[in-house]
Amino acid sequence: MQRPLADAYGRVATDLRVSLTDRCNLRCSYCMPAEGLDWLPHPEVLTDDEVVRLITIGVRRLGIREVRFTGGEPLIRRGLVDIVRRTRELGDDLELSVTTNALGLERNAQALADAGLDRVNISLDTLDPERFHTITRRDRLDDVLRGAKAAHNAGLTPVKINAVLLRGVNDGDACELLAWAIDHEYELRFIEQMPLDAQHDWHREQMVTAEEIFANLADEFTLTPAREPRGSAPAELFVVNGGPATVGVIASVTRPFCGDCDRVRLTADGQVRNCLFAREESDLRGAMRSGASDEEIADRWVAAMAAKLPGHGINDPTFLQPDRPMSAIGG
Ligand code: SAM
Ligand code: SF4
Repeated sequence: MQRPLADAYGRVATDLRVSLTDRCNLRCSYCMPAEGLDWLPHPEVLTDDEVVRLITIGVRRLGIREVRFTGGEPLIRRGLVDIVRRTRELGDDLELSVTTNALGLERNAQALADAGLDRVNISLDTLDPERFHTITRRDRLDDVLRGAKAAHNAGLTPVKINAVLLRGVNDGDACELLAWAIDHEYELRFIEQMPLDAQHDWHREQMVTAEEIFANLADEFTLTPAREPRGSAPAELFVVNGGPATVGVIASVTRPFCGDCDRVRLTADGQVRNCLFAREESDLRGAMRSGASDEEIADRWVAAMAAKLPGHGINDPTFLQPDRPMSAIGG
């Protein structure tokens, strides 16, 4: 029997974000400290079979229609291709994507496409090697660019590029990123920096706002709101220079879209989170490992979603950043 993952505010979650690991081979400054972040102990991380079992429960019993694999860096999870293939077996109409920094994607893109992945979201904040190093603390820009090209060639399209702008670092890079994305047929989306870094260094005044991003882009491009309704998509879409190219802005902080949220998150250690900013989690791993049936796990998942708050509360004076950083929740 199918049951919706509904909450008390009329929202129904159909989009599952699955974190496959909290580990990463980059160290983006808005996400992780330069060093000294403990990884989840290996026994706590779900096995491939456990991940697939929970996704299966989500799809077969709870109305999940879209699965996005993320992390940490999902490409460093050895079983990724197999997990994608087993997820695809749950239905041809499921939408399957991966959010990745693209390191190693050049090697894996075709295998992922063959396993049934639909597309990728690639994170890239600058095309300048020095600024790339400043932001990610690694010298890997070329690998990312090759990974994006390989994804495009493998048909993992549209390749979406996620960029976070940081004041005084890459806030002058917006136009160059957009021109490059249009040239390569990638879809660029800017994301406002959110208070989800492991080191709790986010400051509102340091955040580059959607308004500033529009002002930057207006130097070189004419943007008009795309006509299609935004629906539950977090990005506000704009047509660039009359089209067909578009650019998106995800203004999670200054223009929250919680009222239309259709997402639910599963952490690498098997905790359901009903919001990126939730301060409570529901332990599906514990239930699973102590012998719960699929129906009992589904019950627990439904109850976790029913408790979803109306909004993330970042703009409330009482806001408290969640203890888990983005890299351990799954962005
Ligand atoms: N490692 C993969 C990647 O970078 O694409 C997947 C995980 S990463 C946590 C997912 C997305 O979250 C990336 O696009 C990244 O830019 C974004 N992100 C990380 N920390 C963020 C923050 N504090 N505010 C806004 N976006 C953030
Ligand atoms: Fe790694 Fe992605 Fe976080 Fe960057 S944003 S440190 S690539 S998990």
